Amino acid sequence: MNLPRVRLYNTFSRTKQDLEPVSDGMVRIYSCGPTVYRYVHVGNLRTFMLPDLLRRSLEYLGYQTEQVMNITDVGHLTDDSFDRGEDKMLVSARLEKKSPEEIAAYYADAFMEDIRKMNIRASDAYPRATEYVPRMIELIETLLEKRHAYEVDGTVYYDIASFPAYGSLSRNATEKLMAGTRGEPDPRKRHPGDFTLWKAAGSNRVQVWPSPWGPGFPGWHIECSAMSMAILGDRFDIHTGGADNVFPHHEAEIAQSEAVTGHRVVSLWMHGGLLMLSGARMAKSAGNFFRVTELEEQGFDPLAFRYLALQARYRSPLNFSTRGLGGADNALRQLRENVAEWSSQRGDEDVAAADDWDSRFRAAIADDLDLPSAMALVAELGRSPVAASTKAGLLESWDRVLGLDLGRSPAKRTLPPGAAELMAQREQARAARDFARSDQLRDALRSLGVEVSDQPLKK
Ligand SMILES: [Zn+2]
Repeated sequence: MNLPRVRLYNTFSRTKQDLEPVSDGMVRIYSCGPTVYRYVHVGNLRTFMLPDLLRRSLEYLGYQTEQVMNITDVGHLTDDSFDRGEDKMLVSARLEKKSPEEIAAYYADAFMEDIRKMNIRASDAYPRATEYVPRMIELIETLLEKRHAYEVDGTVYYDIASFPAYGSLSRNATEKLMAGTRGEPDPRKRHPGDFTLWKAAGSNRVQVWPSPWGPGFPGWHIECSAMSMAILGDRFDIHTGGADNVFPHHEAEIAQSEAVTGHRVVSLWMHGGLLMLSGARMAKSAGNFFRVTELEEQGFDPLAFRYLALQARYRSPLNFSTRGLGGADNALRQLRENVAEWSSQRGDEDVAAADDWDSRFRAAIADDLDLPSAMALVAELGRSPVAASTKAGLLESWDRVLGLDLGRSPAKRTLPPGAAELMAQREQARAARDFARSDQLRDALRSLGVEVSDQPLKK
């Protein structure tokens, strides 16, 4: 098969590398998925857009893809909070007076709904961590046999000193790894950077499994080693996640998977840049949290966020503001109007010109998913003297990658004129804690028929 060359940035090597799939023409991808004890925010959705854009681009270029995305339904976020015994799933279960299973099912459904709104294509499989606990136990047993792990009082730790390459992905030196652990060092660990593979159950645990080390539950990192290799085998092409997954999550995954197999498992590590709000990272814990449904309630097309995200390289941090989103919303509506106009004009397709434009588009996406260049090409095409029917045909085709529903008939503007500006001013007033001004602007928006709902301000 003669497939075009694709270059992708590998976090491991810090360079762009040629994609060379293990199986000819078939690219197999594992993506870290959501933890389902809370809603995902648009920053998470940006992270989940990376494998979506990757698959759409590769398929446009003629490759086949298979994607697996895990759902973390045992609730530990980081090794630190995990060691403090904060199981977020159980905290949510207690607060909402539901079982962990009910919580996970509810938020997994909400996640599916949110990615659908963003035109993020569904993964081929969504394995759940709770279904792979026996597989995790097998991996931990192998790590113990190979002396990469040790057990203390029913808890099993990974011995990072046993894996000299530990730190290669994140380029962390061992001293930095020590500094990266917060709070009092656990006296049971041989090295403060050792991470938990299996945790002995405390007294009040609901999600507990039997194991050779007594009742307990798995660490977060071992989940992804178990699920990725169980489904994709011990050699696959691409692993994706957010930039915040590089350390410790993916560093730990490499240490686990490669210590078990004795060889490299993942060919390319790809990480999506974070979404920033007023310079701070959008995060569940920071409280500067937007759900895509909230943007929709404020009158934005959810795909305006997708349009906004396409303006930045996937690896770069992206600043999020209501003003920026308003601009993207306007641009997207205008583009749909143009496509509708061009489609309605009959004329001969200029095949040579179309091929030329399309090869430029292909070159952009084959260069480490350069969507900003692809979007610049969309704008350039719009201004060009190419026949309208050719423009319409190209954009319909490119939309298989962009996912912006460009063929959707331009609906009436859901955000009334002037509302985006008022919302931007109100955002500034709130950031400056000028609540009187913010309330005035809220009333002005209401008079335009726009209701705004407030997010708690970051402290
Ligand atoms: Zn993961």
